Amino acid sequence: MNLQTKISGYADPALHAHGLYIGGRWNKGSGIPVRDPSTGHVLAEVADASVDDALRAVDAAEAAAPGWKATPPRQRSEILRRWFRLLSAHAEELATLISLENGKALADARGEMAYAAEFFRWYAEEATRIPGEYRHTPSGSHSILVDHEPIGISVLITPWNFPAAMATRKIGPALAAGCTVILKPASETPLTAYAMARLGEEAGVPAGVVNVLTTTNPGGVTNAMLADPRVRKLSFTGSTGIGRVLLAEAAKTVVSCSMELGGNAPFLVFDDADLDAALDGAMVAKMRNAGEACTAANRFYVQAGIHDAFVQRLTERMAALKIGPGYDPETQCGPMITSKAVQKIDQLVSAAVKDGARVTTGGTPLAGSGYFYPPTVLEGVSVDSAIAHEEIFGPVAPIYRFETEEEVIRLANSTEYGLAAYIFTQDLKRAMRVGKGIETGMLGINRGLLSDPAAPFGGVKQSGLGREGGVTGILEFMEAKYYAVEF
Ligand code: NAP
Repeated sequence: MNLQTKISGYADPALHAHGLYIGGRWNKGSGIPVRDPSTGHVLAEVADASVDDALRAVDAAEAAAPGWKATPPRQRSEILRRWFRLLSAHAEELATLISLENGKALADARGEMAYAAEFFRWYAEEATRIPGEYRHTPSGSHSILVDHEPIGISVLITPWNFPAAMATRKIGPALAAGCTVILKPASETPLTAYAMARLGEEAGVPAGVVNVLTTTNPGGVTNAMLADPRVRKLSFTGSTGIGRVLLAEAAKTVVSCSMELGGNAPFLVFDDADLDAALDGAMVAKMRNAGEACTAANRFYVQAGIHDAFVQRLTERMAALKIGPGYDPETQCGPMITSKAVQKIDQLVSAAVKDGARVTTGGTPLAGSGYFYPPTVLEGVSVDSAIAHEEIFGPVAPIYRFETEEEVIRLANSTEYGLAAYIFTQDLKRAMRVGKGIETGMLGINRGLLSDPAAPFGGVKQSGLGREGGVTGILEFMEAKYYAVEF
C-alpha cells in the first residue's frame, strides 16, 4: 500500500509534530520519535516536556479554572457537543492516524473513534444533569443539602492501546464537571491526542482548559504535578505496576485517584453454549485491537463436552485472519506496539509450551520488518503457567478444559485482577449464578464486547479504583459539599 496517497488532513502525522499544547498555545519541540509499528519507521517527532513545562501547564490550568467552573453547564455542554461533532466529522482521518501510530486494524480504529467521540456526546448530556441532594436529619435539627463541585485541576494519564478513547473517557466527564485538565498521552501514540486537542480548539474549548504534554520523563513530570497542591485529581489508565507507583506518589499530597489498570479476563464457555455465538464472542473479546486491550479475553475456560469443537473452530477462525499494517483496509490483525511487546508474548507462549501446551496455530513471531505476532491458539495449557497469570496483551488464546461450575469459578478468580469476564451459556440462571461468583467489575453474558459510554467501566481487586463512563463517571471529577442548613 502506498501510504503517501492515503494520508490527508488530520491523518497527516506531520501536522501534529509541533507538540506541547499549553494555555492554548502550541509549543514547538522534538525529542520523542513516534513510530509506525508495522515498519518501525519514524512518522513524526513530538516535543519532550520538562518538569518546568508541566508546571507551566498547571499554571495554565489554574488560570482557566475559575472561568470554566463559572461557565454555565449548558454552555460547557454545547462546547463538548461541538467537539463531538468535529471528532465525528474527522473520524476517518483520525482513525487512519490511530492505525498509523498504534498499528491497529482500520476497522478497530474506526470503532475506537466512534466510541471515543461518544464520550463527548454522553458527557455533553450529563453536564446538564449534575445531581444534588436535599434531606432532613432524623432528629429534625436541620436540613442536609449536598452540592457537587468540580474537584479541581486534574492530571489525566493515558496508555497507547486506545489513543483516542482513553483520553475522551477522561476529558469528557472532567470538562462536564467543570474541571480544567492536563493530559499526558503515551509516548508511543501522542499524535491522536494532539489532533483531538486541535479540534477542541475549533470547538471553542477556552485556552488552558485542556492542556496536552508528552515527555520522556513521565515519572518526574507526574510527580512534580502531584506534589503541586493546586492539582487535586489524578485519573490514570495503564498498567497495575505503574498504578501502584502513582497511588503511592499521590498519597503524599492526598490527591484523589481514579485508576483503570490491567486485566486478565476469563472467558467461560459451558457445554450448553451456542457454539457459533461463543466463537463470535471469542473473536471479538480476543482479537479487538489484536488482543491489546485491558478487557481482552486472556484465559479461555471451556467445559469438557464442548472443548474439542471449540478448539478446532477457534483455530480455524484465528488462522484465517489477515495480518498486515493496520492502515491497509484488508488487515484484520495489525502489528504489536513495539518489539518489546512481541518479545513478551513470545516468552509467555514459549513458557506455556514448555509447561505442556500444544500450539494449534501461530506460536512464533513473524520475521521481517515491523512488530508482528500471528494469531495463536494454545490448548492443554497448565493453569500454573505464567500465561495464566499475566496479561498477554497480544493475539494469543490459551484454552483450559474444565468440568464443574465450582472449579471454573475458582480458576476465574485465581489472579490479582478483576476487570472483565465473559460467560457463554444458554441457561441465564447459570450465567447469573456463576456471574455472582466471579470477582469482576464487568461481565459479558453471551457477548464479547462490554465497552459503552453509558455504562460504568472499571475493575475490582488490583484492576483499579473508581468507574469511568455512565452516570457516575462525572462524580469522579466532583467533590460533595454538605451544607447543614437551619431555618
Ligand atoms: P503503562 O506502561 O502503565 O503506561 C501508561 C501511561 O503511564 C503512559 O502514558 C506512560 O507514559 C505513563 N507512565 C509510565 N510510567 C509512569 C510514571 N512513573 N509516572 C507517570 N506516568 C507514567 O501502560 P501501557 O503499557 O501504556 O498500557 C497497557 C496497560 O494499560 C495494560 O496493563 C492495560 O490493561 C492497561 N489498560 C487499562 C485500561 C482500563 O480501562 N482498565 C484501559 C486500557 C489499558 P509513557 O508512554 O511515556 O511511558
